[in-house]
Amino acid sequence: MSLAVQPIDDSETINPEAVRRDFPIFSGSTQPRRFHYLDHAATTPKPSAVINSISDCYAQCYAPIHRGLYPMAEQATSNYEHARRTLQHFIGAASPDELVFTRSATEAINMVASGWLKPRLERGDVVWVSRMEHHSNYLPWQLVCQEQQAQLRFIELTEDGQLDLDGTPELFAERTKFIAITHVSNVLGTENPVATLCTTAREYGIPVLVDAAQSVSHIELDVAEMCCDFLAFSAHKMFGPTGIGLLYGRQERLAEMAPLQVGGGMVDSVGDGMEESRWAAIPARFEAGSPDMPGAVGFAAAADYLSSLGHERVHRHIVSLTRLAAQRLMRIDGIRLLPHAGLPASGIVSFTHHNMHPHDMAQIAGEAGVAIRAGHHCAQPLLRRLGLTATARASFSVYNDESDIDALIDAIISAQRVFCE
Ligand code: PMP
Repeated sequence: MSLAVQPIDDSETINPEAVRRDFPIFSGSTQPRRFHYLDHAATTPKPSAVINSISDCYAQCYAPIHRGLYPMAEQATSNYEHARRTLQHFIGAASPDELVFTRSATEAINMVASGWLKPRLERGDVVWVSRMEHHSNYLPWQLVCQEQQAQLRFIELTEDGQLDLDGTPELFAERTKFIAITHVSNVLGTENPVATLCTTAREYGIPVLVDAAQSVSHIELDVAEMCCDFLAFSAHKMFGPTGIGLLYGRQERLAEMAPLQVGGGMVDSVGDGMEESRWAAIPARFEAGSPDMPGAVGFAAAADYLSSLGHERVHRHIVSLTRLAAQRLMRIDGIRLLPHAGLPASGIVSFTHHNMHPHDMAQIAGEAGVAIRAGHHCAQPLLRRLGLTATARASFSVYNDESDIDALIDAIISAQRVFCE
């Protein structure tokens, strides 16, 4: 396992076919025909490098971490902490102690809402989120505001799906206690100017949490440059295992945060009865219970894998493919893209059809071997504002190519034949 990974080759462009071969789900007997997976915003397939790193943990070095004194337990602990350092470098954090392993992005956000914000939030204070948040970066703040009788307010969107920062002059007002914002929208694909927002917020002393669930797979993250106080993402959307995520918190912020869960592993000394207990040092304080060592190792392997592909190249490939898909979808009669103007800036394109329900489009596409998503995408406040209850969404990754777009377009045209003729 290495901390600094060089790109596998120097060429400017990705070879999707070669990358596809790294993913066993696309080969072998499980797939009778070409499987056009276009649901990466929901979750990503796993490359052999990740699968093998996890199975190696179970087959070769599996023992309880942070406890056992025998060599295999020490090795397992070292692998877990090495994974933390790999991820530290992956996001440009100053110290491994700024990284807390969680079950998911959702858990990471809940930890901050309950453990950092709640004890500081007073009646009448304001917390801002954007209109485009996923429920996981919305409900934790809504709950804490309800509990503390604070206000939850939206940064609304412009017609073309960008944050309407000009229309939100009160964002940095005195009562603002916190801002939670997604880096990339899981519905619109909009990339938000998080570095600008976080830098200004810091000048006003307002902490910001960035939800990087949708950006981590194709945008190089640098928490120092971004100037965020907290950052959350899950491994499963960046080729890593399901069931593990990460909370980054600036050291001083984590020091102020109360643990969400208590139990084994997060405590130094436990008091008798009502006597106070003393929490362990950070980050162990926030990792109660037996940590998911194989998950952390697989998470780090995914980060190494992405670094080996090169973020710039991955991003360029995904954006150009998504733009092409958007242009071709637009040419189909009855299709409307979200947002209303502009081409996608990430790997996500959402669309509706004036005569077909998104679920019908997704079902017909699925039968044709094209996996897209339909529904509200856990973004009901956004869909409500757009006057919609559901959209269809195609989301691209590094091994997709034009044949996946052809299959998508053919599937939508077939659906049109079924439902519109
Ligand atoms: N934020 C965004 C923008 C997401 O797209 C998702 C997952 N769809 C989440 C948060 C939550 O991620 P997880 O379910 O892995 O906790």
